[in-house]
Amino acid sequence: MTTASWLDLPSDSPFGVHNLPYGVFTTAGDPRRRIGVAIGDQVLELAGAAHAVGHAEELLELLSAPSLNPLMAAGRQEWTALRAEITRWLTDPALRPLVEPHLTPRADVTLHLPFEVGDYVDFYASEHHASNLGRLFRPGSEPLTPNWKHLPIGYHGRSGTVVVSGTPVVRPQGQRKAPADAAPSFGPSRRLDIEAEVGFVVGAPSALGTAVPLEAFADHVFGVCLVNDWSARDIQAWEYVPLGPFLGKSFATSVSPWVVPLDALATARVAPPARDVEPLPYLDDRDAKEPWGLDITMEVRINGTVVSRPPFAAMYWTAAQQFAHMTVNGASVRPGDLFASGTVSGPDRGTEGALIELTWNGERPATLADGSTRAFVEDGDEVVITATAPGPDGTVIGFGEVAGRVLPARG
Ligand code: MN
Repeated sequence: MTTASWLDLPSDSPFGVHNLPYGVFTTAGDPRRRIGVAIGDQVLELAGAAHAVGHAEELLELLSAPSLNPLMAAGRQEWTALRAEITRWLTDPALRPLVEPHLTPRADVTLHLPFEVGDYVDFYASEHHASNLGRLFRPGSEPLTPNWKHLPIGYHGRSGTVVVSGTPVVRPQGQRKAPADAAPSFGPSRRLDIEAEVGFVVGAPSALGTAVPLEAFADHVFGVCLVNDWSARDIQAWEYVPLGPFLGKSFATSVSPWVVPLDALATARVAPPARDVEPLPYLDDRDAKEPWGLDITMEVRINGTVVSRPPFAAMYWTAAQQFAHMTVNGASVRPGDLFASGTVSGPDRGTEGALIELTWNGERPATLADGSTRAFVEDGDEVVITATAPGPDGTVIGFGEVAGRVLPARG
């Protein structure tokens, strides 16, 4: 039996008391950025509720910040204690008169980027995606590069262009050169794509020169969001050898406004797929009692039509392995660092997390509800990615959405 909130939410609410994702919001009448958790179709303002219930100055200070960074920097013990407190506020009927005045309908709030993004890293952890992209970008060669099953491949992206859901995305311009072209040309990308990904938000920092082992993952990672890694395939294809993605990716990366605490995903943990190459010891999670595969099911919509349902449980590398790899050379992490999983693609048709795979380079376009077809994303299209995971006792953990509409290139 799970604890019920005095809010009397339906048992299948994606924002029930077992989720409590963190975000930052303003209202029309109050432009101050405030930290809240989503509960049902409302937002609970945390500093106000903590003050009403009578909490210590120290906690109030963390909750009064205009971003999640100070709270995230406080570390796992604080996060767990705060989560227990918020749960108590929302479940103890005696606290209802104190807490209820700090609820606002979600329809009345504007959500902002919930944390100041530090460094941004994007991985490439789906074997299906990496194999598909290998076939499309390097026809005639082995789809997976020789290192792929030995280390989680990633690159450093541009944190300054990470934007919150709802921010329009201007079609990028750049150099494009198809293999048959004699020379590159300049202009708006003709092959603008999406990548449906899961993002991991670092809270507690690590020390420069010190590797963070697999088992310390949950001490450092605060929570999980959704990511759309917008990708201009024509710009990417021409520029990426030999140093990897650059302008084909850096124009925008969208994130969902709610950060789901790692603690809310305890029942979503699953074993990752069997690995057929023995990992080096620092990446070896085969004896871990609880590996960090996560049963998150995503949905990708274009203008309202579901075009794909990518399964995160199919990812070859877990976020814990990615984190261990990212720090194994002694590189430190800071509060607000974001690392994304890489495109989530499953093995089957209709589970691809990018259009280049879903439409196989445009050869089999996706059909939308209005009868139109898409090889890639067109100006005016709105792409929305949502996700859910299993919560305790049959409940659902919702991630909300990451949405973005494409605007024409600005010449
Ligand atoms: Mn990506």
